[in-house]
Amino acid sequence: MHELLQLDASEAARRVRDGSVPAEHLAQAALAHARATEPRVNAFLDQDEAFVLEQARAVDRDRAAGKALGLLAGVPVAIKDNIHVLGRPTTCASHMLRGFVAPYDATVTARLKAAGAVIVGKVNLDEFAMGSSCENSALKQTRNPWDASRVPGGSSGGSAACVAARSAFISLGSDTGGSIRLPASFCGVVGYKPSYGRVSRYGLVAFASSLDQVGPFARSVRDIALAMKVMAGRDEMDSTTVSNPGPDYPAALAEDLKGKRVGVVREYFDRVPDRSVAAVCEAAVQRLKALGAAVVEIELPHADFGLHVYYIVASAEASSNLARFDGVRYGLRAAAENGIATYVNSRGEGFGPEVKRRIMLGTYALSAGHYDQFYGRAGRVRTLICRDFAAAFARCDLIASPCAPFAAFAAGAKADPLSMYLCDVYTIPSSLAGLAAMSLPAGFDAQGLPVGLHLAAAPMADDLLLASAHALEQDLLADRTLNLNRLPRGLQG
Ligand code: GLN
Repeated sequence: MHELLQLDASEAARRVRDGSVPAEHLAQAALAHARATEPRVNAFLDQDEAFVLEQARAVDRDRAAGKALGLLAGVPVAIKDNIHVLGRPTTCASHMLRGFVAPYDATVTARLKAAGAVIVGKVNLDEFAMGSSCENSALKQTRNPWDASRVPGGSSGGSAACVAARSAFISLGSDTGGSIRLPASFCGVVGYKPSYGRVSRYGLVAFASSLDQVGPFARSVRDIALAMKVMAGRDEMDSTTVSNPGPDYPAALAEDLKGKRVGVVREYFDRVPDRSVAAVCEAAVQRLKALGAAVVEIELPHADFGLHVYYIVASAEASSNLARFDGVRYGLRAAAENGIATYVNSRGEGFGPEVKRRIMLGTYALSAGHYDQFYGRAGRVRTLICRDFAAAFARCDLIASPCAPFAAFAAGAKADPLSMYLCDVYTIPSSLAGLAAMSLPAGFDAQGLPVGLHLAAAPMADDLLLASAHALEQDLLADRTLNLNRLPRGLQG
């Protein structure tokens, strides 16, 4: 692997700006590395060398012309394939969007480009972001760079895998109930779900609009802060983005943990079936304490209903959002003798089994006679969960827990939908409440697989969350016995 790929994005951009590394070299290194690792990892759905190199050369030309370069100058960034990049296919890893080419840039894509980032490709996901392992992709099976027999997590599996594999410095994912945090935990990278409303969803193919947030993956918290500085903030095209411009994310990292209160729900640690996963998370909480934080026990009595609420709310919203894929306007159109048959055949052929399951669940939950029993009630329980968090955040600044009950599992190991849904028990409640939340690599389980610590903060407390995670990260990295910076096994030698 080229030594440039060992740098983080902040350092790589600095070198491109000061002229010591041409953006084209960086892009060539990332492309060559992807060629070498993709046969094992399989993260990319679209990678076009000419498109990548042209963007890099444009950065180099700007530099030669004396123009000021942006914060991500020359940095190779991968994009989850449910986020538009002008002129490139958006598939959502579904046959439904076969042949569809994005007619515009998502706001996040446009902001990355304006900051000088080089889009290196579109990466795999569970079909329409529904899943926890990336195995619901209709297009390819992405594998975990730490162990090719295991899944990368999902739904943003390609985004996590390509950053872990060093084929991109930063990637974008989307998180509805855990889709950034779970794969980040499984692949040993940092995954950040901003507070709901921080980052524009314009140009993200909607799954569940009251939950979806776009967020970055990176190998360091400071790279996450950099990406947030570039992407976050009000967008006229997404009315749910907040008007407050938000903090200066990288500058906020200077805060330390002294005097911070970290809330823990005792059972979340006790319940983890794999004790080596629990031990990594417990040890991380002890470190927070050693760094000056106070640990307080909290309760979230309604959070146990999170999974039930989520599968009603998210499926209801999905059934409505996915109604637009009718075989007429986008992508696939199946052969049929009349209009109605066009809809039926196109949706029948285009959507995979998990997407159909969600559409049916959601349509049922919204149907006359069942609406109040399911959707109405789920909304009320969601409010109770939000109130639990509000009460907890009166007593603590952060909440720490395991990100997932286990490390990456073997491909094919979770065949029934319920066992797959249970992967997200720790991530879903914060999604329902719109919190800022993330997975931070905290160590390795008994089998040497990465384990992420889940950290969450109150809505809009992104600066506090990132600063705390940064302080913990520096402490974890300084501990040589953990060897957190080790390369994924699949990339060694
Ligand atoms: N695994 C969850 C689901 O399948 C979450 C997905 C997501 O956050 N996009 O819905």
